[in-house]
Amino acid sequence: MLKPLKEYICDSCGQLIQKPEQGEVIWKVTYKKPYLNYDYKIVHMRRVDNPCSMGDYDCNTNLKDFVDQYILHPYAVNLQEYMDTMRRLTVPYYEEARQYLKNPFKTMRHFENDFADEMIPWAEFFKMVIEVNED
Ligand SMILES: [Zn+2]
Repeated sequence: MLKPLKEYICDSCGQLIQKPEQGEVIWKVTYKKPYLNYDYKIVHMRRVDNPCSMGDYDCNTNLKDFVDQYILHPYAVNLQEYMDTMRRLTVPYYEEARQYLKNPFKTMRHFENDFADEMIPWAEFFKMVIEVNED
């Protein structure tokens, strides 16, 4: 199980980002005013030798700064997409649940089998699953 708000699945290579400091948010910006953000990805912090680089993105910042900067002012083309990224960074267990949202049965089984002993805020969790599936 991913550590809530600590571990993430990289949108580029699909591997684990083990600490928030090892990840960054990258996104693109529209060419015309008002300059708006879109195509957000959470990826391993890019370095010259990082094989999971996503190619050309306009902006990048670390995970914490992204939340601080954009939580009140999204400047987003698509709020749905923005909310997905913001939830990943601020809602406990969302990153875990997100992997299973397309298959609720699998979600139940996954959580029953692997996390029976964990303290899961079930009501919050299922409210979120329903919300996201309604999007
Ligand atoms: Zn990666």
